[in-house]
Amino acid sequence: MSKESEKTRRLWVALRHQAQLKGFRVVVRSMEATASAYCDYGTKKVVISDRLNPADALARLAHEVGHVYLHTNLSLQDRGIREIEAELFAYAMLADHGIRPDDSLLHYIASWAMRVAPHAPEDLVGTISEQLVPATRQVSVQVHRYLRDHMQPARSGPAEPPFLPSDHDGPVL
Ligand SMILES: [Zn+2]
Repeated sequence: MSKESEKTRRLWVALRHQAQLKGFRVVVRSMEATASAYCDYGTKKVVISDRLNPADALARLAHEVGHVYLHTNLSLQDRGIREIEAELFAYAMLADHGIRPDDSLLHYIASWAMRVAPHAPEDLVGTISEQLVPATRQVSVQVHRYLRDHMQPARSGPAEPPFLPSDHDGPVL
């Protein structure tokens, strides 16, 4: 396993654990071509498409865990703000583990910022970034602690199981 894919696998497991701490199950399964992931607060599930490559799947999981931690009352906030927050959270989580986020992540943030605050998108993103620091730091500390306690760096030995097992036991939502 390459160093990069090992980093991806470790962070995937740690973020999945973070979702579980909030009572959310992470499910990987086939989805419509137009969707790649979503967070279902009703059934407490984070669903990730099984056709994503591991790097994209991790970025989507980080985004959905952002929703789980940041957005407990959906009626209080504009969807665009929520999407920017979740994507900035994902960006911070990946960067914190030395994984360079794909440019599409920044495009997603920029496009929502243009929609929500067309005259000052950079001010909006700056303000949201500052407000996110405490929550992001808190999850980041928990992730590092989990990795330290449960996920020793890979040694030579038996191959690790695939980290994205398909989940077929849930209803199709
Ligand atoms: Zn989202």
